[in-house]
Amino acid sequence: MAQLSDDCFAFGGALLGLEEARRQIAAMFRPVTAIETVDLRDAVGRVLASQITARIDLPPQGNSAVDGYAFRHADLAGSGETVLPLQGRTAAGQRPANVAAGMASRIFTGAVMPRGLDTVMMQEDCTATETSVTLPGGLRRGANTRRAGEDLAAGARALSAGRRLMPPDLALLSAIGLSRVPVRTRLRVVVFSTGDELVEPPATLMPGQIYDANRVMLLALLARLGVLAVDGGILPDRMEATAAALREAASGCDLILTSGGVSTGEEDHVRAAIEAVGKLAFWRVAIKPGRPVALGEISTREIGGGEVAGKPLLGMPGNPVAALVTFTALGRPLIDRLSGAVYAPPPAMRAVSGFAYRKKAGRREYVRVTFDGDGVARLFPKEGAGIITSLTEGEALMVLPEEMVELRPGDTAPVIAMGLLHG
Ligand code: AMP
Ligand code: MG
Repeated sequence: MAQLSDDCFAFGGALLGLEEARRQIAAMFRPVTAIETVDLRDAVGRVLASQITARIDLPPQGNSAVDGYAFRHADLAGSGETVLPLQGRTAAGQRPANVAAGMASRIFTGAVMPRGLDTVMMQEDCTATETSVTLPGGLRRGANTRRAGEDLAAGARALSAGRRLMPPDLALLSAIGLSRVPVRTRLRVVVFSTGDELVEPPATLMPGQIYDANRVMLLALLARLGVLAVDGGILPDRMEATAAALREAASGCDLILTSGGVSTGEEDHVRAAIEAVGKLAFWRVAIKPGRPVALGEISTREIGGGEVAGKPLLGMPGNPVAALVTFTALGRPLIDRLSGAVYAPPPAMRAVSGFAYRKKAGRREYVRVTFDGDGVARLFPKEGAGIITSLTEGEALMVLPEEMVELRPGDTAPVIAMGLLHG
């Protein structure tokens, strides 16, 4: 088909909206993972299998937030200074001192508040002798203390089922006394590259060849998601060989990812291979880069009536930027769905654009940007979907919504920090 412009979106046909594609993913698939219990040390990136409820208050006891002197707020004399006699000393980890009515007590950060005392003055803000402390006025009741359960109360939800555990989540679980957590078993994902031009480094490049870039990136992205990623290698640009490899992979995994070969060229065989050994759900989504992205199922057994019970396959485009964008936009929700994780799009952060940009209505565009010293977004100077340095030197993807046709300098638009794509 003749293309009338250098816009690779020029040729026609219906495109599926990204949100609709995500809805289809959620509707087509169910979690396929089981549940196991793992040590917290092995839990980062894993998907929490059930809600965790705090069995203790966090912190467990009221304690001092500073080094200083604890006292009853009611013992302060109005607005002026108060001199209180001192009794006892409590350091972190110790039983709290017994302190008689009308007395103050030496206390240190993290130490449990002596019974009856409710407020702490920082040591820098008072003067003390061996036997008494002089407290300036004006401190509110409870100042410089931490209430029992103020972070999380016993019985409250600490983390929800389906959460992919990040390092601070492990801090929270450990702080409420857990050493092991129920998680989903790891999804098994096979990753293929496709293309006769691809070679595995460090082999010598022959004319016409390029080194494979996508596979190692996708394997690493998967590892960050707690997935058991299997390297399927490079598939040739031949339909039968591709179909055979997909069929074989399907029997031993939960998901197949491919890159390349999903467009409409004569050498693009992934789509035909999916149709030969499974079925295709969609193959064109209204995003740029990444429009040719195929979702299908590879059958592992025939059910009566020709129905297919299959393993999902996401066929991403070959250009590395398009591969990363489609992985983020569709691969991540698919992996989350199959893993039993709750998919949450990257948090909505907006940046001011320092550039003008025109786009077609009806598709979502991801443009690579860097940030000036003042936080204004600049368009990465090389825009091609094959420009890998736009991913290594770019600092964020700016997400231009479907309805937008023009971005002007000074407009704001959503951005996803590059680091968030990887974790
Ligand atoms: P395709 O989607 O197969 O038409 O490929 C689009 C472009 O991406 C072509 O220039 C390919 O050479 C390139 N490409 C495909 N797969 C990879 C890969 N794994 N690593 C680097 N470039 C690739
Ligand atoms: Mg190709």
